[in-house]
Amino acid sequence: MNQDVAARLKAAVGPKGFTEDPAEIAPHLEEWRSKYKGRATLMLLPATTAEVSAILTICNESGTPVVPQAGNTGLVGGQIPFDDEILLSFSRLNRVRAIDEQNASIIVEAGVVLATAQAAADEHRLLLATRLASEGTATIGGLISTNAGGVNVLRYGMMREQVLGLEVVMADGRVLDLLRTLRKDNSGYDLKQLFIGAEGTLGIVTAAALKLFPKPDETATAFAAVADVTAAVTLLPRLQQKTNGLVNAFELMPRSGLELLLDHIPGTSDPLATPSPWYVLCEASGAPGIGEVFQAALESALEDGIVSDVAIASSEAQRAALWKLRESISEAQKLEGPSLKHDVSVSTSLAAEFIRATIAAVAAVLPTARPVPFGHLGDGNLHFDFMMTRGEDTAAFLARWDDIQRIVHDVVRDFGGSFSAEHGIGVMKRADLVRYKSPAEVDLMRALKRTLDPKNILNPGKLVPD
Ligand SMILES: Cc1cc2nc3c(=O)[nH]c(=O)nc-3n(C[C@H](O)[C@H](O)[C@H](O)COP(=O)(O)OP(=O)(O)OC[C@H]3O[C@@H](n4cnc5c(N)ncnc54)[C@H](O)[C@@H]3O)c2cc1C
Repeated sequence: MNQDVAARLKAAVGPKGFTEDPAEIAPHLEEWRSKYKGRATLMLLPATTAEVSAILTICNESGTPVVPQAGNTGLVGGQIPFDDEILLSFSRLNRVRAIDEQNASIIVEAGVVLATAQAAADEHRLLLATRLASEGTATIGGLISTNAGGVNVLRYGMMREQVLGLEVVMADGRVLDLLRTLRKDNSGYDLKQLFIGAEGTLGIVTAAALKLFPKPDETATAFAAVADVTAAVTLLPRLQQKTNGLVNAFELMPRSGLELLLDHIPGTSDPLATPSPWYVLCEASGAPGIGEVFQAALESALEDGIVSDVAIASSEAQRAALWKLRESISEAQKLEGPSLKHDVSVSTSLAAEFIRATIAAVAAVLPTARPVPFGHLGDGNLHFDFMMTRGEDTAAFLARWDDIQRIVHDVVRDFGGSFSAEHGIGVMKRADLVRYKSPAEVDLMRALKRTLDPKNILNPGKLVPD
């Protein structure tokens, strides 16, 4: 790190706006899965958009690379500085700037944690609809920069669909004020879209205007047993039809996933008396009475043999217990041992065939790998994980990651799906981007990067292939 540049950066943010203490920086150098470890000696903590602008002006002039990091919950290594870049934290850029009840919108700064923004909306009986297991740590800036998904995408869409406006600092330090709260605005290119899902490679998000929805009066949550994935896929449109499209979550879990939870997560129990090969955690929300409509829809699916058993939460505690099952799968996997993870999507209608084909393709080369496909079946996104069998050699198993990933992603391509449904590219999937996207798409991505960040200072080495 150039010491003159470091001195100018520290002066730009003042004494509270930086740290060089290795103990304070250390937690920011490793991500949640411990797959990537980085190196940085200076972390900047700007408190205002003007400070972010001053930082980027200095970095651009001096050709100093910057890695933005917010909640550090990203799962593809995008937020990790690998080469002593400046680490840019958003923990002090954390104000809720405004809520407009009539317009159903909220303006928040990039470092606001999702749960805080949800709570602010809730005080006005409004709903910030994005919901995911990392919501107590992930921030608005991180969620926008990864175009995060989560469990409510089926009804409310990805993060992109929540964004009405953005405030972005460009690589050269200029502030791009796109912070509008309009529902309709066809005045030229929709520039904010460039920065959503850009993983900090095209600009730094400093604030966002987000859409809010009416807070549902009633929420009904159920855990249904199904014989196979085809039955689960049949259940979804049926529930949608009977509730008039009010299903907000539809999550798939295999028996192997439930068993991991029962083995490793204290306080969990099987909600149903008889084991089933597959389960769906589903939820609908709306005006008073939605619970009865949802229950009737599930009972009719039971009568028709689509569902073999169902537990419907009758209290908030039961509802939380059902969600704990879904949200603890990754934790249970971690406690069980290593797994090869894939975040993929296909059309929901192809999910059953896709799962069969992927399991067969992996079994042909690594028969001992235990498949645990689970996740957001309602929007076609599966976390298609393969766990190591107990007692096997960890290093030998993990050494197969690239081969197995190639096999899984090739099957995804054959089904017209995506090799990255919601977690993004980061460093983990840069090679896949070149393999599975067309040359025209890759060229356009490179051209955008060169135009918006000609000196390659914004999160270099992430997302965009060299
Ligand atoms: C337990 C768990 C469950 C999860 N569940 C889901 C899920 O259901 N769906 C889902 O989509 N993801 C999920 N994730 C992944 C993760 O939470 C999301 O990717 C989230 O959006 C990252 O937010 P963050 O604030 O932690 O960002 P970080 O991890 O800090 O950063 C993510 C990326 O955004 C960039 N970035 C961060 N802030 C900014 C900014 N202000 N401006 C520009 N670039 C920025 C970083 O450089 C990096 O490339 C989960 C993660 C965990 C640990």
